[in-house]
Amino acid sequence: MAIAAKIQSVIEKSSWIRKMFEEGGRLKAAHGAQNVFDFSLGNPNVPPPEIFEKTLREILDSGEAKDHGYMPNTGYPFVRQAVADYVGKEQGAAVTAEEIIMTCGAAGALNATLKALLDPGDEVLTPAPYFVEYGAYADNHGGVLKTVPTREDFTLDLAAMDAAVTEKTKVVLINSPNNPTGQIYDAASLAALGRLLVDRGGAMGRTIYLVSDEPYRKIVYDGARVPGIFEACPNSIIATSYSKELSIPGERLGYIAVNPALDDRKNLLAALALTNRILGFVNAPALMQRVVARLQGVTVDVAEYDRKRKLLCTGLAACGYDFVTPPGAFYLFPKSPIPDDVAFVRTLQEEMILAVPGSGFGGPGHFRIAYCVDDKTITGAMPGFKRAIEKYR
Ligand code: PLP
Repeated sequence: MAIAAKIQSVIEKSSWIRKMFEEGGRLKAAHGAQNVFDFSLGNPNVPPPEIFEKTLREILDSGEAKDHGYMPNTGYPFVRQAVADYVGKEQGAAVTAEEIIMTCGAAGALNATLKALLDPGDEVLTPAPYFVEYGAYADNHGGVLKTVPTREDFTLDLAAMDAAVTEKTKVVLINSPNNPTGQIYDAASLAALGRLLVDRGGAMGRTIYLVSDEPYRKIVYDGARVPGIFEACPNSIIATSYSKELSIPGERLGYIAVNPALDDRKNLLAALALTNRILGFVNAPALMQRVVARLQGVTVDVAEYDRKRKLLCTGLAACGYDFVTPPGAFYLFPKSPIPDDVAFVRTLQEEMILAVPGSGFGGPGHFRIAYCVDDKTITGAMPGFKRAIEKYR
């Protein structure tokens, strides 16, 4: 065998997910992409705000982007300063440019952070359902991902988190608003989680870090707010990106923000500069850093996602589906009408609807619908959603 046995086994384990994507490709080839209702991908379809392209042009026209050379591994100082000013206000903390590391997306931010923190065998706890790549990210750096159940409505279960902490726990990795559930963790449960990590870590004589993956922070509905984590937990780190809030995932721009109150902050900052480099990212894309520096606080038109969310929720409720109405992100995670979510997703495929089984996210008995799609995909799929649930009545 030519490839690494470990990678071979990951490929084999995810083979049913691959099969579903292949089946989706077959359906599109056979029936035309316009006749297939594809809800399988979290690729933003609301366009970037107009000011994004305008800013890009201004930067190019002004000639200020002529420097295409290497830069500090942490990013351009003036960009880090702009991000620090914004994050400081958002978190209600005195964040300086030193505490910001520009990264290649949230994925780059998470990998640089986990590489800086994990020793072999260290455990990373994450509330389930969770973003499917976390297992690989922990494993990339010698860690082990352990999932912790959430409550029926996907909010944090602190007793379950307390029970899951061991002397090997190094990181608790949360994602709010959540992919795949859209749930947001409230300020009281984050504060309780922060206390728990300080108390349990303190009793063991070690630090447990709270890492918050929050690329959907700005995509929230009905006036929902995503509380900051810096106040909730001193040893906290934000890993995030502009992928969803500006609809630019292909541009690979994100950042890490380290809580100014973190123990051993200087060492961690030095480690992050190193890990961002030696993971092969070297530095975040130069031109895009210049653009986002000028677009702090700018967001896509969230009302568009809200309209899609309402269209989908109203339609599915009328069909009889059971779900938690998501307060954020652009995913819905309904209960599968039958316990076998993979079988139900196959039933949806018979109706030309592509969704992802909840089992792939540590949430069996559910399925994920990514509603970052055209409205007509949502309305066109409704008769199929209805027929699919009726098959099991
Ligand atoms: N974290 C979560 C929860 C995500 O859903 C995604 C992408 O979908 C990422 C991280 C990766 O984001 P990025 O494209 O900015 O690396």
